[in-house]
Amino acid sequence: MAGSSSVLLCRHLGSDAARTSLEDDLARRLSDSGRTVLITPHLYHLPHGSDAWHEIAALPGDLAVLGWISPRAIECLLREHAGIEPAIAVDLSGPDDPFAAIEAALAPAESPGDVRELDLPVSARWYPVIDRSRCTSCRHCLQFCLFGVYEAQERRVVAVRPDSCKDGCPACARVCPHGAIIFPLSDEPAIAGMPGTVMQPDAAARRMFYVRTGRHCPLCGKVAEAGQQPAPGEAACVECGAPVERPDEAPSLVHEEIDALISELDALTPGGEGE
Ligand code: SF4
Ligand code: SF4
Repeated sequence: MAGSSSVLLCRHLGSDAARTSLEDDLARRLSDSGRTVLITPHLYHLPHGSDAWHEIAALPGDLAVLGWISPRAIECLLREHAGIEPAIAVDLSGPDDPFAAIEAALAPAESPGDVRELDLPVSARWYPVIDRSRCTSCRHCLQFCLFGVYEAQERRVVAVRPDSCKDGCPACARVCPHGAIIFPLSDEPAIAGMPGTVMQPDAAARRMFYVRTGRHCPLCGKVAEAGQQPAPGEAACVECGAPVERPDEAPSLVHEEIDALISELDALTPGGEGE
C-alpha cells in the first residue's frame, strides 16, 4: 500500500570524494523513486539541541535513515534527540545495498519526492550515546566519569555535557554493566554498536570503577583499594579485584547460590530426593 515516507541522509564528515558521490547518487535515486529526502551533516556531530533535530522529527511518514555509523547508534541518537523511531537505519559503510534496503523497508511512494539539504556547520565530536533499551539507570557511568559528562535527570542518566568527554576515550563503555554505552566512531565493533555485538563489561575497568568510587562490591562486600594485590594464598574478587579468601575455604555467596540451585534440581530429577 502506498504511503508517505521520508529519508534522512546524513553525510560523512570531511571531503572524501567517493563518499560524497555515493551520498549524492543516493539522494537523486531516492527522490526519483518518490521519497522526500532531507540531507544533513553527519548525525553524530549534529549539536545537541540544534534545530536540525526538530526538522528531522518533523519529517513525514515512515523514516529511513542513512549514515556512516552503526544502525544501533543511529537509532539511539534519533530516540534521544528527535524522539522518533526510524523504520530502518542503514550504515553506509556496511555491506548492504542502501537503496535496495530502503526500497524493501518503505511502502511504495505515492507522489514525487524532493531533496533538501541543511547547510549547517559542524565539527568533529566524541561523546557517549546511551542505548535506552539496555540502560538500567544504575549510575555507574555517572559515578565513574571524572569530567562531569553525565547527570541524573528524573531517574535517567543523561550525557548533559557531552563535549566534556575526553577525545578517543571510551572508558565508561567498558565500565557499564549492561553494554548500554556506544561510542559510534570507536574502532572496536562492540563499543561502536556494530550489528551482532554487545559490549561486555571489562574486568580491569570494573575494578577501576570500585577503586575510583569507593563503593562496596556487591559480590565480595569489600571496598577495593588502588594497587591492592592478593597476598599469597588469597584470590581476587572477579568483580572488584579486592583480595578474598579462596572459595574452597569460605564459599562465596555465588557458590552457595549455585549449590542451592543444584540441590533443588536434584530434588526435581527422577530418582532424586523429591521423588
Ligand atoms: S552505566 Fe550503563 S546502565 Fe548504568 S546508567 Fe550508565 S549507561 Fe545506564
Ligand atoms: S569516556 Fe571518560 S570522559 Fe568520556 S564520558 Fe566516559 S568516563 Fe567520562
